[in-house]
Amino acid sequence: MLASRKPLWSDLKPPVVRFAPSPTGFLHVGGARTALFNWLYARHHGGTFLLRIEDTDRARSTDAAIRAILDSLAWLGLEPDRPVVFQSERAARHAEVAHALVAAGRAYRCWATPEELEAMRAQARAEGRPPHYDRRWRDRADGPADQPFAIRLKAPLNGEIRFHDQVQGPIAVPAEELDDFILLRSDGTPTYMLAVVVDDFDMGVTHVIRGDDHLSNTPRQLALIRALGWREPVYAHLPMIHGPDGQKLSKRHGAIGVEAFRDELGVLPEALLNHLLRLGWACGDREILSLEEAVRLFDLDRVGRAPARFDFRRLESLNAHYLKAADDARLVALVRPRIERHLGRCLHPHEADLLLRSMPELKPRARDLNALAEASRFLFATRPIAMDAAAARLLDAAGRARLRRVHDALAAVPDWGRASLEAAVRQVADAEGLGLGEVAGPVRAALTGRAAAPSVFGLLEVLGRDESLARIEDALAHPPAEGQGKNG
Ligand code: GLU
Repeated sequence: MLASRKPLWSDLKPPVVRFAPSPTGFLHVGGARTALFNWLYARHHGGTFLLRIEDTDRARSTDAAIRAILDSLAWLGLEPDRPVVFQSERAARHAEVAHALVAAGRAYRCWATPEELEAMRAQARAEGRPPHYDRRWRDRADGPADQPFAIRLKAPLNGEIRFHDQVQGPIAVPAEELDDFILLRSDGTPTYMLAVVVDDFDMGVTHVIRGDDHLSNTPRQLALIRALGWREPVYAHLPMIHGPDGQKLSKRHGAIGVEAFRDELGVLPEALLNHLLRLGWACGDREILSLEEAVRLFDLDRVGRAPARFDFRRLESLNAHYLKAADDARLVALVRPRIERHLGRCLHPHEADLLLRSMPELKPRARDLNALAEASRFLFATRPIAMDAAAARLLDAAGRARLRRVHDALAAVPDWGRASLEAAVRQVADAEGLGLGEVAGPVRAALTGRAAAPSVFGLLEVLGRDESLARIEDALAHPPAEGQGKNG
């Protein structure tokens, strides 16, 4: 073993996996899926999940881009079991390994100039060959010692690089397809190929689970690992994620960054995780799967090779499911900033309390946090509340006549509890020979300014006697004009 040294941690439980994103400004959902599958693999097998930020491209790796990844992973609950490794901090170690390979005769210094390299590429193109470096410095070391040089691997010249990918199956690549690729650039900086191999080794990584866009890098990385005489990790390359139209998921399809799902679409982390779980992993036709169950069931043998499709509609229905199941106080904390942004002011404590008490009525109908915030706005509207067009229609002359009767019946209810309120409204409906909906509609409109809103009895209860009767009286006193603007 060349240049081997003590691993960064000596107490990691195997299998050791890692997620190794490059900071590009946000965490792509494809990256989140890779992180999730690594995390599940570690949890299922009692191993260790590590995180390495591949920030060697200093121009793109801003602090904001790094924070976006860390925040998104924390939001999803996919936090690493050890401190984050920053690839940029390990450049000296990468260079040490490259020089050790030169000393052992398995890599060499190359003094080819950019002009020479360009000429080589042009010639290869003209001859219809792949644009490989022609290995001109492979067997000589007499370059000008004071001139910059790159370090290249002595890649195998014949035979095949073979490995067994846990998802893609057996892979064999003829050696002539690899060239003597660069390990250390002439400015002394490591290439991605070198950095990944060295970091995985030093971190004790046993399983490399990543997107199949990296499949073509693996033979090169293996050639390097074999030149070093290091232990080879097991590889598993996950299929790409496509959009609903079968094209590679991109900005064209809408949100693709995890933060956008959280902030713009108002998605809960458990809903996004549940959808990501199903992307590439066949776990029967179970739609709803908790993370605990996934930890129990997950393994690589049921990850398919076909690209997975991201389905925004399915995500939305999963989100509705998880909203319904979510704790009321948690939902208040999540929607409150959205409501306050819209109102342009903070909620008073009694309003926050009203929101909390209304949550059981509101959450079963919401598909995302934006919709939930929107649906709860009527709670904070100032009287007389604005009506939308559909609500205004419910408050036509016939509607108001019914509303008047309901008002009087409600005003006579002694305890303002849900059962008595329902009994009172039912009695009016029965007496008029009308369906409950025909009587409840105008009440709902008067209370919320909308036609579609939660159960009217729950609304009456949470708004309380005074506010409910006052809103109804407003609607009776000032019949809304058709087409009036939106609620508050
Ligand atoms: N940094 C690479 C990327 O973000 C991943 C490298 C790897 O997983 O080996 O695509």
